[in-house]
Amino acid sequence: MTLEQLLDIARVDAPPAGVGLELHMDFPTENPLTVGGAAFNAITAVINPDHSVEMQSAVAAGAAGGGSEAEECTDPAFMPTGRSWNADDMPVVWRFRRGSTPPENSMYRTQGALRDAHEIWPASRSRCTENDRIDFAYEFAGLTAKTVKYDHTNIVEFGPLGSGALAINYTWFSGTRILETDLRFNRTDYGWTNKPGGQKKYQVVNVAAHELGHQVGLDDLSDPHGGLTMFGRISRGEMKKTSLGSGDLRGAGRVSP
Ligand SMILES: [Zn+2]
Repeated sequence: MTLEQLLDIARVDAPPAGVGLELHMDFPTENPLTVGGAAFNAITAVINPDHSVEMQSAVAAGAAGGGSEAEECTDPAFMPTGRSWNADDMPVVWRFRRGSTPPENSMYRTQGALRDAHEIWPASRSRCTENDRIDFAYEFAGLTAKTVKYDHTNIVEFGPLGSGALAINYTWFSGTRILETDLRFNRTDYGWTNKPGGQKKYQVVNVAAHELGHQVGLDDLSDPHGGLTMFGRISRGEMKKTSLGSGDLRGAGRVSP
């Protein structure tokens, strides 16, 4: 993909001089992205500081629980992005553009789901007995009117995304050090829900759990790792990404500062 194609899907400006941008683009199982005749549910692309583009990883289209799904608590797989946070930058302070919540959703429930999702990685929340400590911390700093942009403010919002992307996580970096991270959910092309058991729409907390794994420094996984939070396929009603699996815990322990 070209720089122009990436910026159009992500609806973001190219990074400024000296800064790179890692784009984790997740496409839902119902609407994969087709590139050159092949279909994908997740693509990780890196825009380097010189604006050259690298495709870092891709997950072929398929069923959310498809393939030989490995067990959540026994699958040790993880893939670092190669970029991580400095210990000096903990906690990662984030803000929510609450006014961007889709009109059919409660702003307050959506904020609650996002705050809950931000506790999953720092708390190593998991159904598995493994209890690796993850040295990663978030701090919620309240509301913002800012949108996705390299501006030294980590924000979460709903907004426009191209080509049917469900959610995109943006990580700006210098060398291997993460400088800022923003997260945008597709506001208009899909339905969102915060209701337990809601099967017809995308669960905010579930998608957020996966995207925040990208913020920690983990990349998407393909088959047969369907039991893990970092598995790169997301479907309507899914909630299983809210419980970290064995590989998620190991990976976060490895890449956290
Ligand atoms: Zn992903």
